[in-house]
Amino acid sequence: MTKQNVLVSEAQSAINMAITVAVSNSSIFTTAAQKPPPAHGGYFSISRNKLLKNLEINNNGGTRTNGWIDSMRASSPTHIKSTPSLTDEQSSWILHHPSALDMFEQIIAASKGKQIVMFLDYDGTLSPIVEDPDRAFMSDAMRKTVKKLARCFPTAIVSGRCRDKVYSFVRLAELYYAGSHGMDIKGPAKGSKYKKGNQGVLFQAASEFLPMIDEVYKQLVEKTMSIPGAKVENNKFCVSVHYRCVEEKKWNELALQVRSVLKEYPKLRLSSGRKVLEIRPTIKWDKGKALEFLLESLGFANCTDVFPVYIGDDKTDEDAFKILRDRGQGFGILVSKFPKDTSASYSLQEPTEVMNFLQKLVEYKRRSLRG
Ligand SMILES: [Mg+2]
Repeated sequence: MTKQNVLVSEAQSAINMAITVAVSNSSIFTTAAQKPPPAHGGYFSISRNKLLKNLEINNNGGTRTNGWIDSMRASSPTHIKSTPSLTDEQSSWILHHPSALDMFEQIIAASKGKQIVMFLDYDGTLSPIVEDPDRAFMSDAMRKTVKKLARCFPTAIVSGRCRDKVYSFVRLAELYYAGSHGMDIKGPAKGSKYKKGNQGVLFQAASEFLPMIDEVYKQLVEKTMSIPGAKVENNKFCVSVHYRCVEEKKWNELALQVRSVLKEYPKLRLSSGRKVLEIRPTIKWDKGKALEFLLESLGFANCTDVFPVYIGDDKTDEDAFKILRDRGQGFGILVSKFPKDTSASYSLQEPTEVMNFLQKLVEYKRRSLRG
């Protein structure tokens, strides 16, 4: 790998692939390979088929730290090679995943006669990705927009963060919240006309893992203390090790420390997202399953007249995009400025575009109610 760009040679890739990298059939890792985002007109040259198959990294023995490092780099590129203009690849990608703003009329036409249900990821979708994950605040304008949206359509926030944490950012009681990648789901506390029956905690997929997760969290805090910038977050059903603020030369050490903790816990698995390592139970649960669960809770399990729209920016959102594709209902919108392999149908570049799209949906609904 050069210092100037993320260029993974075939040789290096071959070495990396000697490390066991399993791709599960049912987890978040089933989605198409995610290409790291080029930035500001730049692009990456990556041996992606070999390396970037949305990696699930086993922790049961073997010297696999190099694989983790590669996965961390693949998910979190830091160096780019500049090119002056839009590449052919970018143009072709936009053609296949057009802007949901540009396609708004077509989207509305497709939803005619159906109940739109909104699913929104939080980080990178409603709030910008920031250095300190504790400060990933959403703007007041975005909050107002989501509040209006929830008056028009059943609306759920689906996040990797723990439910309480994401609620502390969003602070809207009228929404559904699916925290910890959907492992912890709660209905609206008040003020939603879409509220069904008793809306306490609806589902907790992995309650028996809670003490183990807590134990691992404490160990990871201790083990990563010596690595400047590393931040461990307890998301209740999963633990996140953020390395947004860790120097790249320290990533290896961080991976080693994480591995030294995880080798004692074969029931937990490690995955890698945007500048974050995530540790969670090996149960088959993901944002896609959360989406299906929520549709069922809302009474749309076997409905043909439902139109779910899921907006997200990360690999973990791909499970939800894929579910919608498989069901042939609604569609996914990927928030990304750059080409990525995705099961989403449309794209939006950044959270401000997400807000514009949501505002348009609210205006459309209000218009249609006025007749
Ligand atoms: Mg996200």
